[in-house]
Amino acid sequence: MISPENFTHGGNGIVYRLHQQGKGFLPVRADLVKEEAAGNNVISKVLSITNAKNIYYGHRIANLLLPGSVIEVVGTEVAEERFALGVNRLMNVYSLDAKVNPDHATYSAHMIIDHHEKVMVCNCEVCRTHHELHRWIYKEAEKLFTELGNIGIYVPLNDPSDYCFIPTSGKKPHVIFFEIERIDPVILEEYLDGLEGLNSNQVEAFKLLQHYNKINSLRTLFLGIFQQLRHGIKAC
Ligand SMILES: [Zn+2]
Ligand SMILES: [Zn+2]
Repeated sequence: MISPENFTHGGNGIVYRLHQQGKGFLPVRADLVKEEAAGNNVISKVLSITNAKNIYYGHRIANLLLPGSVIEVVGTEVAEERFALGVNRLMNVYSLDAKVNPDHATYSAHMIIDHHEKVMVCNCEVCRTHHELHRWIYKEAEKLFTELGNIGIYVPLNDPSDYCFIPTSGKKPHVIFFEIERIDPVILEEYLDGLEGLNSNQVEAFKLLQHYNKINSLRTLFLGIFQQLRHGIKAC
């Protein structure tokens, strides 16, 4: 059985640490799960299923092309909890623990959300010290943000709760992002097309990009049909 412990919260979800002793139903080996509300009507169900798949592909592609740049997402699913009065749908994103500075969870959990942005308002010792560390890693985070952006992968540099660093013996901090905001598949494909002779990681990334595009096409198709049905109903 999983007994999740509230680990930290993101802008749009809660991250739990998973204790997997005796677990029976986890689809993958994971340390953490981020739960997001997925909406309960048909359209939001389809959108969250396609989102979940593309979150998985996006993270895999980013790590194949720039290893260690984002957390290792090992699986995603849309789970349903049934109650007498209906269904509660959640999108679960399973990942491995990135082993970042341990104070980050507290730093992130003590932030508040103001106008859809995470803001640091806490003045505790952990937050003040960790905030200073974030000033130190900002240049590296910005560099990684640009590198990923150049190949069509966009990460949230403006939200310090969405990235941190893994302590290493190296001089430069190893920055890692916890989330991908969006991917531009056209830029990504152009980048891969422009390379001369793909290495095995790039070949794999190319394959995953085709899956990503397929999911996007299905999503567009579904939305188109849904729109037509709605117009049809109005016209009747
Ligand atoms: Zn604090
Ligand atoms: Zn941090």
